[in-house]
Amino acid sequence: MSLRIGLGFDSHAFMPGIPLILGGLKIDHPEGLAGHSDGDLLLHAITDALLGAVSAGDIGTFFPPSDAKWKNADSTLFLRTALEEVALAGYKIVNLDCVLIMHRPKIVPIAAELRERVAELLHLDMKNVSIKGKTPEGLAQDSTAVAHVVVLLESIELPNGDKLLALTADAPDQADIDGVVSSLVDDAHDMTALGRKRPFDPDDLT
Ligand code: MG
Repeated sequence: MSLRIGLGFDSHAFMPGIPLILGGLKIDHPEGLAGHSDGDLLLHAITDALLGAVSAGDIGTFFPPSDAKWKNADSTLFLRTALEEVALAGYKIVNLDCVLIMHRPKIVPIAAELRERVAELLHLDMKNVSIKGKTPEGLAQDSTAVAHVVVLLESIELPNGDKLLALTADAPDQADIDGVVSSLVDDAHDMTALGRKRPFDPDDLT
């Protein structure tokens, strides 16, 4: 078994009159987070942590803000793409730890709900998803929300002892790879509709 670690960060400014989306949930709050997409900085930081853990670039690599296609995009789409990259690399998530830094809303009262939703999106048990809230004391950033995420991955071992990477390397046909990925994530869907720019290259991993 091999392990990989990933780190994600994101920040967005609060803006009155738009919905606040955090961890894939709409939170009751008078201000939302401005952004090209739905502004879900928690899912953006998790996406970056997952992509970083398999050296697959970052969220901007797949979904550049310059592309009008991603305007107001549902950030769960970004997360699904990152999950596919992790699966293509032959890894699965062990656990993740998230810190949300914002003056309001308070995270503690909604932390359980956020953990439950993020665990559902990542196909994880809730005990493997930690979400903590901090207030930005002394940072003079009351109008900004910040997220830090660290994620641990472990290699997927097949019953015969081979790793998934070996399997996909022997079957580089995209349909075969899509089949493997579809078996690892819940919904089968057309990945060409997502932001992937290139097929996964196992040589990218050392
Ligand atoms: Mg963002």
